[in-house]
Order: sequence, then C-alpha cells, then structure tokens
Amino acid sequence: MRRTHRCGELRTSDVGRRAILQGWVHRQRDHGGLIFIDLRDREGWAQVVFNPQLAPEAHRVASDVRLEYVLEVEGEVCRRPPGTENPAIATGEVELVAERAQVLNPSLPPPFSVTDEGTVEESLRLTYRYLDLRRPRIARNLMLRHRIIKFIRDFFDARGFLEVETPILTKSTPEGARDYLVPSRLHPGSFYALPQAPQQFKQLLMVGGVDRYFQIARCFRDEDLRADRQPEFTQLDLEMSFVEQDDVLGIMEELFTEMSREVSGKRVFTPFARLTYQEAMTLYGTDKPDLRYGLASADLSDIFVEAEFGIFREALARGGQIRGLRVPGCATYSRRAIDELTEVAKGQGARGLAWAAIESGEPRSSFARFLTAGEQAAMLERLEAQEGDLLLLVADMMPVPSRALGAIRTEVARRESLASPDVLAYARITEFPLVEWDAQAGRWDAVHHPFTSPMDEDMALLETQPGEARAKAYDLVCNGWELGSGSIRIHRRDVQERIFRLLGYDAEQREARFGHLLRAFQYGTPPHGGMAIGLDRVAAIFADEVNIREVIAFPKNQSAVDLLMNAPSPVSEEQLAELHIALRLPS
Ligand code: ASP
Repeated sequence: MRRTHRCGELRTSDVGRRAILQGWVHRQRDHGGLIFIDLRDREGWAQVVFNPQLAPEAHRVASDVRLEYVLEVEGEVCRRPPGTENPAIATGEVELVAERAQVLNPSLPPPFSVTDEGTVEESLRLTYRYLDLRRPRIARNLMLRHRIIKFIRDFFDARGFLEVETPILTKSTPEGARDYLVPSRLHPGSFYALPQAPQQFKQLLMVGGVDRYFQIARCFRDEDLRADRQPEFTQLDLEMSFVEQDDVLGIMEELFTEMSREVSGKRVFTPFARLTYQEAMTLYGTDKPDLRYGLASADLSDIFVEAEFGIFREALARGGQIRGLRVPGCATYSRRAIDELTEVAKGQGARGLAWAAIESGEPRSSFARFLTAGEQAAMLERLEAQEGDLLLLVADMMPVPSRALGAIRTEVARRESLASPDVLAYARITEFPLVEWDAQAGRWDAVHHPFTSPMDEDMALLETQPGEARAKAYDLVCNGWELGSGSIRIHRRDVQERIFRLLGYDAEQREARFGHLLRAFQYGTPPHGGMAIGLDRVAAIFADEVNIREVIAFPKNQSAVDLLMNAPSPVSEEQLAELHIALRLPS
C-alpha cells in the first residue's frame, strides 16, 4: 500500500513527516498562484497546498483536477501558517505541501454535491448511492452501524452464545406479514419463502441443544413501507434455553445499557422503565411510549361521578372514563393552540377536549364553571396541578381518552422540544394480549406469533375468553420506537396444538405448516424463549436519523424499489419457462 495516512488522520504530531495521501477531491480553490485541494476519504479530509514555485508539475496536475477525481499526493506535513488554521476539523492545524501529484482516476461531475451536506432529492441519492455513501453523514452512519454489530457480537460471544446461520430459502413463517416467494426450478409449482424471521429455526436450535443462540439475521417481509420499515431488514435475533422472561429481558437491558454508553455517546436512563402493556396503553395511549419525558394521563372518573357537567356525566353513564393530562408551563397556550390540540384529540376519536389554564388573575377554562369547588380542588390535587399548567381532559369510552391524550402528549412534546436527542429512554413492555380478533377474517390472530406461550394464570381462558388471555410476550422500546419483541415459547406439543386450534388451523393445516415443529416438540424440547431487535432502528436512533434508509448501505425506496440496481425488474422468457411460470399481469 502506497498511502501512509488516511486523509482525516493528519495531526500536528505528523508535522515534518512525509506523507502520501490518496483520496477524492472534495474542494478545490485556485488563489491565482497557490492551489488548495481538500482531499477526502472515509475518515475526513486534509488540506493540500500546491505551490507553482516549489512543485510546478504537481501544481499543473492540481489545476486540471475536478471534484471527485481520485488523486494521489506526496509531500511534507506542515503546520498551517498562523491565522489560517481551521478549528472546525480534526486536521485543521496542518496541511500537506505537495511535491508530487497523480490523478488515479478522473470523475464525471457528480449529479449532486458530495461536499455539501444539504438536502438532495432522495431518488437521486439512491440512484447514485455510491456517491451518497461518500458523503460524511452516511459514511458516519455506516461506521456507527459497524460498531453496533461488533459490540453485539463481542457481547454475546462473551456470554456463551453461538452465532448460527439459518436458511434464507425456507418455508413460510407466520410473523404476520406477506411472504416473499422464490419459485423452485426443481420442484415445479413449489415455492420457497424468504424468512420473515428465523423464528422456527431458532426454536429448533434449542431442541438441538444449542442452548444460547444469536444471529445478525436478515429478514424479509412484503408489507407497506414506512420510515421504520424496509422489505428486507436486519435483526439481532436470539434464543435461550431454560430461561424465564426476566432472563431474556435482563440480558437485553445489560446489552443496551452498555452498548448505548459505549457506542452512542448518549445518556441512558437506568434501570429501564417497566410497564405492562395495559399500563402503557392506559397512561400513554400507546405500547411504545417515548419516556424521555413524563406527561402520563390520570383517571379522574371517580372525582366526577356526581358532576353536573353533561359531557362528563354522560360519558360515565355509558361506562366510559374521564382522563386528565397536566401539561406543565403551557397555561399560556392561545385559543388557537388549544383548538389545534382539540383536533389532535378528535383524530383519535374523541368528541372534544376540555381544558383549564391554571393562571393567577383571570382563570381560563372551558368547563370549570360546571364544576363544584370540591370537584375542582380534587381534580387539581389528582393532577398535581401548579401555577402555569394547562390541564386537558377527555371523557369517552376507553381507550379513546388514553389514545387522545397520548396523541396530545406527543404533539406537546414536539412543540415544547421535550424529547432530548441526547437521551435514550428504554422501556420493557410486558403482558401483551395473546390473541386479537380479526373481524374481517372472523378469527383470532396471534398478537406476537403462534409460538408464544400464554401466561400460566391465563391458560384457562384459552377456550373461554381468549381475548382476555395474556402472553409471556414482551417488547423493548426506546424513545418512542419499538426496537423489538420476544416471548417465552410454547415447548409442549399439546399446548402448541391448543393454540393452533384457537387460531383456526385444522389438523391438515397444522401438519402441513407446522408438522416439523410439532414433531420436534415430542423429543425433549427444553423450555426456551428469546427476542429479536430491529438493528436498523437501533442504528437510526443512535445516529439521530428518523428514517432507517439513512443507516442502510443500499436501501429500497418507499415503493420497495432498489433504484441503484433497478430491482425488481422483468426477467427473460427463458428464465420464466425454466421456473415453470406463466405471467398473468394486471391489465
Ligand atoms: N421472531 C420474532 C420477530 O421477528 C421475535 C421473537 O419472538 O424472537 O418479531
């Protein structure tokens, strides 16, 4: 290798040394005499000076290069003349005084600026992703992602986990999304499915005595895309034998506490918050609350049982709830701002929003005049209201009050910048429902997946009130994102059959789809459980990105298209024939 340093590595300790740099022309300034080139690579950039008196040939090369040319320069590392240092960059105190320069490869003018971090239309960035990858933001994100994965591998290796690869060409796995299918050439009419997750394989690894497994696993789900979803994504997948829920969540808490501190540089709230699904839904109206700030809603129903206020009375008479949210310091919100919050509440099905601004002088409220002094006092006490607070109340059937105030909570946090980007607030959410009713299909669906164990105390509900049964299922959330889910699994054939029956699989379907698993459960399957974490999301949170596409080297766009490779794309008649496929395209 000819280069002696990375461009971004030069420091004052190198002054007086000779250096050979290779990199891309990031900027070029011709000062009519001296030419300055910022030469860039993954680690940053260094200033190179070309002096026509000292090195006429190198100066000639420098005057001909354009942005993004690949250049090799040799010279001496010097201190920049006093007053010309650039404290904003790591190499800002030094420069390379060029003696020799050689163009290694020219470049067409790039279709967007690599130098400038400004916004460029995403489709252009994705079409020329290799140029986008040169931009410092994405380069930084890829390095961060690498450090996350390295940390994970070391962490689990040190704790006796084995990394095991599982098949990509496999059978449909019921993770709740549509499968990507791969036609079989050798078995006409049969298809592989790409794994939505290695779920069954990791359970079979436990049957196989592997005991502790993890994998940086690629998963494929054909579903509508969002900022936090891609057709293929990466999970940290793990499974452990002879464990309970707290063992799995405990190791995840340890991993995320240590990794966040070491890799993200952000502050972590410890211990992680612990909420049941029911608590999260009631207090925050969501199962992935952003806990960087408070603003939980409170039940005020008992205070208003006798209230004159028609809306409250009526909601309670229908069996509803009255919940209140205290928004500290926002008593100054204008009528217009409150109207906007009312719209947010209506978006969640609420019919209205009652409000009171706690201000000395002229008290403002949409409903205080309907309350007795005792009711008012009890409300203020329950909400721990203080001077300057805005109180917001929703009266409706549950879960509307929780959902409406939860949405308002998010909106207020946005307006008031309550969510610090430098903090990671993790939470373990437990006791998810086992199944939910799919009214359209007229059957019960697994909330997590069909291999999830019901809670022991709820087993009796399976045949009577399945909708009330809770699962040994859990999520890890962070800053309002669901990072991942897991569960303690069913490890007995009879219980697994019961669940399959509840989900409406008849004997034939049970055998065709899950016969392999049911058989395995007859050969001494240990109790086991595990979890999977969306690594793209973790990287995005650590990198302060809202879209996971920014932390994936080659992502698909919003319509699941890879604009760089132009995939998906039509294939030849011969390929189709080989696969025994005839197309029936929409007209
Ligand atoms: N396979 C599950 C998923 O992808 C995670 C798990 O239960 O371990 O969500």
